[in-house]
Amino acid sequence: MPDAPDRLPRFAAGLAFLLASGLAVALPQHAPVPGGVAVLRLESASAPAPGVHFAGRPQPVVRTGDAWFALIGIPLDAESGKHEAMVTQAGVARPMSFAIRPKHYPAQRLRIPDRRMVEPPPELAARIAAEQQRLQALKTHFSPAPAPDADFILPADGRLSGRFGLRRILNGQPRAPHAGLDVAVARGTPVRAAAPGTVLAVEDFYFAGKTVVVDHGQGLLTLYAHLAHADVVAGQTLRRGEALGASGASGRATGPHRHWGVLLGGTSVDPELFLFDGR
Ligand SMILES: [Zn+2]
Repeated sequence: MPDAPDRLPRFAAGLAFLLASGLAVALPQHAPVPGGVAVLRLESASAPAPGVHFAGRPQPVVRTGDAWFALIGIPLDAESGKHEAMVTQAGVARPMSFAIRPKHYPAQRLRIPDRRMVEPPPELAARIAAEQQRLQALKTHFSPAPAPDADFILPADGRLSGRFGLRRILNGQPRAPHAGLDVAVARGTPVRAAAPGTVLAVEDFYFAGKTVVVDHGQGLLTLYAHLAHADVVAGQTLRRGEALGASGASGRATGPHRHWGVLLGGTSVDPELFLFDGR
């Protein structure tokens, strides 16, 4: 956890500011790095809500205190340097530039005993391709309302066994980086919704196993994978902390754990940026 030491003071300062402003609306930690979130201050709150696009996709805009803020999800493969978001106000679009800083994520070597999970047999190629398409459609889901509540809780208590962004090497072969946060928990442990939201989908994927996707509004989504079972249905509303299923090891998993993903504006970002208690 290389960036932990300076995290808590910044959280505390941010929270103090928000409480002093009279509107305790949680913003994620500003971390303009690949896999991070850029929290950009826009117009004052007296103006109507602006719209913001980054990389062609709408991003959430939330009102906190006396201003509107854009929450921009930065893809893990983004280049560091100057980038532009498009801000639309009263029908007029203008670019807003911000800098993405470099971040190095460590490598993680894993042994997956089931070879079919590292090199799926050819007869499964069509299923996996269809699931990838379905997952991409879910990840880029954008519902204009409500304004998202970005104050998240960890969906299960346990050791953090796989952090976001790890460059994964499975059985010696490089694979896509880890797009979520793993919590090691016993099979059957209840999995809780990180924040209030609506169940967008309940799926059974080859790699992710039994998966629940929750929509928190404006392109902020959470994803819970490798469940033993899901106890919710699409369209159901959830409170923060409400159980949505139980942990398991379905799909590609080395043991019972909770894989928790956070999607912002169509891209996977580091869930730890949304945990206000600094866990
Ligand atoms: Zn994971």
